[in-house]
Amino acid sequence: MEFEDSPKQKPEAFFGLPIDVRFCRRCVMSNQRPSSAVEFMHTRESKKATLAIDSEGVCDACRVAEEKEKIDWNQREESLLRLLDQYRRSDGHYDCIVPGSGGKDSAYQAHILKYKYGMNPLTVTWPPILYTDYGYENWINWIDVGGFDNISFRRSGKAMKLLTRLSIENLFHPFQTFILGQKNLGPKLAAKLGIPLVFYGENEAEYGNPIADTATSLRSKSFHTYKSIDDIYLGGVSISELRTRYGLRLNDLTAFLPAEDTDLAKTNVQVHYLGYYLRWTPQEVYYYAVENCGFKARPFRTQGTYSKYNSIDDKIDDLHYWTTFVKFGIGRATYDASQEIRNRHLTRDEAVGLVSKFDGEFPDRYFRDIMQYLEMDCERFMLLSDKFRSPHLWAKDTDGSWQLRHNVMGTGLDD
Ligand SMILES: [Zn+2]
Repeated sequence: MEFEDSPKQKPEAFFGLPIDVRFCRRCVMSNQRPSSAVEFMHTRESKKATLAIDSEGVCDACRVAEEKEKIDWNQREESLLRLLDQYRRSDGHYDCIVPGSGGKDSAYQAHILKYKYGMNPLTVTWPPILYTDYGYENWINWIDVGGFDNISFRRSGKAMKLLTRLSIENLFHPFQTFILGQKNLGPKLAAKLGIPLVFYGENEAEYGNPIADTATSLRSKSFHTYKSIDDIYLGGVSISELRTRYGLRLNDLTAFLPAEDTDLAKTNVQVHYLGYYLRWTPQEVYYYAVENCGFKARPFRTQGTYSKYNSIDDKIDDLHYWTTFVKFGIGRATYDASQEIRNRHLTRDEAVGLVSKFDGEFPDRYFRDIMQYLEMDCERFMLLSDKFRSPHLWAKDTDGSWQLRHNVMGTGLDD
């Protein structure tokens, strides 16, 4: 019980996160979840926009799921057909680009565009930072079993390693270099090769960006274009500092940069979400990819969650979700279970149980490999992690170990 005459000082919130932690009543996501940011403008000082929870206690992502049930999917497919009819070619040229790593989503996208809708996709891959064996095999199967041409763009390993290290040191964001390429490579190659249509899978709004984003199939250009190089930061460091302090040439960095606004405009490249046109259920997409593209789940559970088939190509992925647990109090099980509640594959009670069991589990399976690759000391990484624990989310218990102040089970230190 708190008395009015002894106001408690609220602990500070990092990254612009909301000071009061709230959980959605339908899924298990909290209001601390950041929306997708423009990755190449991300600095230490960036303030996050976060998931909105409305007056009824329901989050935007759950509202999007609710709206989705009202969509007339036949009508959406008809508009897809109209779009594809404008671009489909029969002269041997590619007519669209599908960026992906051969995970279940990109496998489904490329396959359905080619074999159901008669398109001629070129698949393009920005390879993971550190392939897992399963990820590599799935990529090969996508190309060979699915039957697609593919350009896999291997960027300078030296630049990749340095930028990944900087993104950990400055932003505690080990996955930034992967996300950069994953968002930028498709539109960039589209402009270079004169292929005007690019398809991504699901809209980021499915997972909690502002609802307005889902009103169109087109992805906002801000995610993959830039106007001035002075606006760009990689690993939280400006391009000029990367050149002067870290000795990189502009040419070493080009692979990581988005397309120039003017280049995309010349080819009139359009970037669409296929998920706008087709009903996208991760579990069904998974079965489709298994059947048609030789996709294989890992026989073991991914650390930090209960699933076996989501984002399994990069060793760094598991660590990435551990860092979101540190920074926002949101681990991988929370992401997975929330999505499955929205698709009606889990009840909220089941989801709470899974979060309680797996969220924040330290991913030690590949941890040493990653540290070895980055030439980073394991202990140094752990010390670094403490600097990113926002005081409004974390406190030490009587044993001196970090505990969340609030969690979805209601058993946090301050709950
Ligand atoms: Zn929700």
